[in-house]
Amino acid sequence: MDKKIIIAIDGFSSTGKSTIAKRLAHELGYIYVDSGAMYRAITYFAIAKGYISEHKEDIAGLLNELPEIELDFIYNPELKHAEIYLNGINVEKQIRTMSVSSKVSIIATMGAVRKKLVELQQKIGAKRGVVMDGRDIGTVVFPDAELKLFLTASTEKRAKRRYQELIDKGQEEVSFNDVLSNIKLRDEIDSTRALSPLRKAPDAIEIDNTGMGIEWQYRRILKWSRQAIEKANQEHKEE
Ligand code: C5P
Repeated sequence: MDKKIIIAIDGFSSTGKSTIAKRLAHELGYIYVDSGAMYRAITYFAIAKGYISEHKEDIAGLLNELPEIELDFIYNPELKHAEIYLNGINVEKQIRTMSVSSKVSIIATMGAVRKKLVELQQKIGAKRGVVMDGRDIGTVVFPDAELKLFLTASTEKRAKRRYQELIDKGQEEVSFNDVLSNIKLRDEIDSTRALSPLRKAPDAIEIDNTGMGIEWQYRRILKWSRQAIEKANQEHKEE
């Protein structure tokens, strides 16, 4: 049987990480894990429970309830990928709103939140055979991942992609400028936070996909993934 590996896809917001990761996992028969969805689900919980709002940040209240928060990924055969459940409820839609996007990076700076989510991510990936996307997968969650990618693109290009995605999902009330400022703000908070800041792992392959089509990029990544699986199998035989 093929030895399974871990593929870590990190990078800035809206660089197409999840599109590539989902497709790759499907092709390889691996589990896809959207680690950003976990941070978003905790943020959604904090907003829904009134711990976080425009005018209020009750961090202590949220931290108090953190042990009670249960997150699961359940496979949706129609969509061919897993969706996130918060305490038993599918919250895929609720976590993609601008109100969650505007607070998620603040929640993601909290040590207790990161600890809980990193432990869960490591548990899901313990048997390998996982494609995980996020900000710290190749640096902190799985520093031993067999293949690490780091995706970047210009801020304008990323904002255009995210804006189009929101419009396609029917969130017409969003303005392009709001999306652009949110991406800039999240880049800033994610890259400068003290714990697990967004960084390229030294052994990650960096791809700037500003002017790159998805198909070409995906083909290259699929080829690298197959090479990494082959290499892991060779090393396994030699052991
Ligand atoms: O990937 P996505 O854009 O949905 O992630 C939302 C936010 O969650 C990021 O801007 C970042 O603040 C946080 N995040 C993180 N570590 C991860 C994944 C996401 O801090 N591994």
